[in-house]
Order: sequence, then structure tokens, then C-alpha cells
Amino acid sequence: MTAATRATTEVLLGKSLAELTAWVQQQGQPAYRGKQLHQWLYDKGARSLCDITVLPQTWRAAVASVPVGRSRIHLKTLAPDGTRKFLLQLADGLTVETVGIPTERRLTVCVSSQVGCPMACDFCATGKGGFTRNLQVHEIVDQVLTVAEDFQQRVSNVVFMGMGEPLLNLHAVVAAVRSLNSDVGIGQRSLTISTVGLPGRINELATHRLQVTFAVSLHASNQYLREQLIPSARHYPLAALLDECRDYVRKTGRRVSFEYILLSGTNDLPEHASELADRLRGFQSHVNLIPYNPIAEVDYQRPSKKRVRAFKAILEQANIAVSIRASRGLDTDAACGQLRAARDRTLGLDARPTR
Ligand code: SF4
Repeated sequence: MTAATRATTEVLLGKSLAELTAWVQQQGQPAYRGKQLHQWLYDKGARSLCDITVLPQTWRAAVASVPVGRSRIHLKTLAPDGTRKFLLQLADGLTVETVGIPTERRLTVCVSSQVGCPMACDFCATGKGGFTRNLQVHEIVDQVLTVAEDFQQRVSNVVFMGMGEPLLNLHAVVAAVRSLNSDVGIGQRSLTISTVGLPGRINELATHRLQVTFAVSLHASNQYLREQLIPSARHYPLAALLDECRDYVRKTGRRVSFEYILLSGTNDLPEHASELADRLRGFQSHVNLIPYNPIAEVDYQRPSKKRVRAFKAILEQANIAVSIRASRGLDTDAACGQLRAARDRTLGLDARPTR
């Protein structure tokens, strides 16, 4: 078996400059080819080694079957506000969603970390579809490169808020964060890892000493309500989750963002705001209020602007840093899991993945 044949099981995207250099040297090529390969993968978006014209033609032909690790755009939708949502087809035929959100100064990508999600949150289209598998490092990095190519613009921010629970795929997510930082060139502070919370996993994340923004999806002001919205919360009392978040702040020196989806009549009442204020008083944190995007699969409704403002005011009176997140791409099923579910409805398929 030749070195080139052995390498056919490798995927190049997600590898660091040092790893690519070692790989080209294993192939009998000089070390500087590693730098060329790195540049073509991350800056020029090469989809095949055949595309990399600076490499010797005979070697390109010999390693042509080594997968770079890029996906194919299966579906793309555009919203009037400029948000673009992509359904990407992976090498095994499964699909994941990615969203590109442009603002005046930024291009933010909302990436998926799993195909589907096992957490089954009651308000989420992805949660309704079940879980298929974790994404690999290259499948996460590819989402960012795909959005950058489509917008012909550098990506400034990445949020792990698409399909999946990132802390269930922590190894690949941490490796993708490092690659997005050192290979793609996005500052760690411009990367956000978001979780609904899993016992012990926040502590584990803290051990990686990342400088990322860390967001916890709270969505409820008490344990009973949280369990109705996030079934996995049954195994993780709210008080224990907040204690682990406090530990995270102590260990990393970074504050925590709390995400709170406002569902009309469910968790957006003044008493919920007061209860939340009591829990977070004195906590080094920031609360993001997210008025809900209604979806076909569930009955929750979006609260009125007046109710959202009233909720925010109660938190502000308790000196809690709070903002209302603008909803982007509402008209194109932009919340996580909704594009795939809409495609499946159109095709007459069940939203649940087939494998
Ligand atoms: S909200 Fe996030 S964690 Fe919950 S089911 Fe959806 S993708 Fe999974």
C-alpha cells in the first residue's frame, strides 16, 4: 500500500498547519507544500486536491482521492433582511443547517454541531426530529467556509447555536474552535459556544481554557417550568446548573450569557421576570431575551413587543445586564432545524432523520 493510498481515509480540512505539513512530508513532499495546502484549503476554499494548481501535477493525480472534507449546498433560502440559510449535504448524504447573518459591520455564522439533536427541547424543530450523529471537526469548519464563499465576505463571528447540543460533541467543537481561530483567523472572543447545560460538561469546557463567549440557554426561571421546556433538565436542577456556571466564571474569568426564549403566556409573565432577577442577582452575566419564532411543529407563540419590553424592564430594575436579540430571517424558517423540517414537509417526508 503506498503512502498516497493510505491517506485516502484522511480528511484534510480541520488540520492545523503543523498537521498538514507532517502529512505532505509523509507523502514524500517538501515541508513548504504544507503551507501551500493550508492556504488553499482555508483562504482559497479548495474543494479537491486537483484544484490546487501550485502542487505538482503528478502528485495531485496520486492524491486526488484524498477527501478535502467540503459539503455541497443542497438548498439555500434568502430572507429580506439578508440572512441566508443553507442546508448542506455531507459526504454520507445527511444534511445540516447553517445560517449566514450579515449586519452592517459583521458576518455571523450560526453553525450546527450535530445532525439532529437528542435534547428534544419542546419549542425546537431540531429537537422534534431526533438525533442522528455528531458532526466531525471538518464538517463544522466547512460550514463557516461555505458561508464566507457564498457572501464573498470574511466571517467575523461564529455561534454554535444551530442544530445540536455542542457540549455533547465537545471534543469536535473544541477542535473546531481552535481551527476557526488559528486556521480561518477568527478571534476566539468572536466565537460563541451555547448549551442547554449537561451535568459536569461546563466544568469540562472550562478546563480547555478557551477565550470564547459562553452562552447557557436558560429559558425558564424555575425548575418546574424548565423541565416542561427542556426535558433533559430533569437530570440537572437549575440551582446546580447555575452553580456550575458560577464555577465557570471563577475558573475562566469570563462572564456567562444567559439565553431566554420568550414564549407568550408560558415563561414571559412578570412573575417569571422577577423570579429570574432573583436568581441572577449579583451574577457576572448578561441576559439575551429572544422573542420566539413560531414554527409549524409546535403551538408556542411569539409575545407582543409590549410584553417583551416589560420583561426586560423588570430585569433592568434588578441591575441585570439584558438585551433583546433581534430576530433575523424569520421569513425563511431561520430558527434551528426549521429549514430541514420545511424541506421534509415539502417533500412529504417525516422530519425525523432516516438514520
Ligand atoms: S434547542 Fe438546541 S439543544 Fe434543544 S433540541 Fe434544539 S438544537 Fe437541541
